[in-house]
Amino acid sequence: MSTQPGMPAASVAAPPADPAPPGTSPAPVAPVAPVAAGPVVARTRDELRMARRQLTDGDVAVVMTMGALHEGHATLIETARQRAAHVVVTIFLNPLQFGPREDLSRYPRTFDSDMEICRRAGVDLVFAPTPDVIYQDGDPGVRVSAGPLGNVLEGQARPGHFDGMLTVVAKLLHLTRADTAYYGQKDAQQLLLIRRMVGDLDFPVRVVSVPTVREADGLAMSSRNMYLTDSDRETALCLSRALRAGAAAAAEGPSAIRRAARSVLVREPLALIDYLVLVHPSTLEDVPEWYRGEALLAVAGRVGTTRLIDNLPISVGPSGGPLEVFSDVDSAGA
Ligand code: AMP
Repeated sequence: MSTQPGMPAASVAAPPADPAPPGTSPAPVAPVAPVAAGPVVARTRDELRMARRQLTDGDVAVVMTMGALHEGHATLIETARQRAAHVVVTIFLNPLQFGPREDLSRYPRTFDSDMEICRRAGVDLVFAPTPDVIYQDGDPGVRVSAGPLGNVLEGQARPGHFDGMLTVVAKLLHLTRADTAYYGQKDAQQLLLIRRMVGDLDFPVRVVSVPTVREADGLAMSSRNMYLTDSDRETALCLSRALRAGAAAAAEGPSAIRRAARSVLVREPLALIDYLVLVHPSTLEDVPEWYRGEALLAVAGRVGTTRLIDNLPISVGPSGGPLEVFSDVDSAGA
């Protein structure tokens, strides 16, 4: 087991008190507030195995992240904390899911503040391996295939991304032996594919989704928001505004939803929109005009040098509107 430099110390010893001068009474000593112990940090498979072995009294939840943690991640962790006896957070920038022209090398790395968020949220164990620990035999020849759902939307823009993502998710589920895994609705296609993998390949884990956490002005929180300049950030607001406009037209049906969302985006020429779709949440196919029920309004685009995604589950129909709910799916054997 190792801890990182800069990690909060598990306990703080009070400095020795100066002796009181003769003839005076000693100054009252302020009570020292107990400092919560930070999570155990595991860097290697052996360290993880040893630390995981201690988490025996109750179920274990995992929250998988790429670091640069924000309130969205914290909400996943806190939700897991409320529901499970133990929480494991993984921090791993997975090279397999980044394309050659993507932002792996500049992706923000903020380990010390990540640890502080984990400590405050009561995380038991942080697994923060390097790529050689995860891919100990080099580039994996065998990978999980996302199948056709991995080739549309984000998969079309980022070839191979979802195979790389599912491969590491499978490995981290095996390594952490979690009973439950928490993912954000923010990455809706990722969530869908993880659910499919867990169901199709009989992983003994329950997948829980957590609604997207947003800034007060509606921007979906993302580690990549750190790349945005002030004016980029203004521009980026058009994504969530478009989703809200679409949701407001939910009662009128699919083409009204698409039209309302598009009318917001066309007013913001600095956002280079890759796609805006209203799709079925489990097939990711465009819903037809007669469709009523749950659908996913999803958008992706580039603002400045940053690619952003956002989505809103919507109920299409007479009493329609946005649907942001927690959901659990039991897989076989879980
Ligand atoms: P990442 O570190 O970006 O790979 O994200 C790790 C997990 O946090 C994934 O399950 C994401 O969907 C989730 N997540 C990221 N941003 C948000 C957000 N704004 N709200 C809720 N979950 C999020």
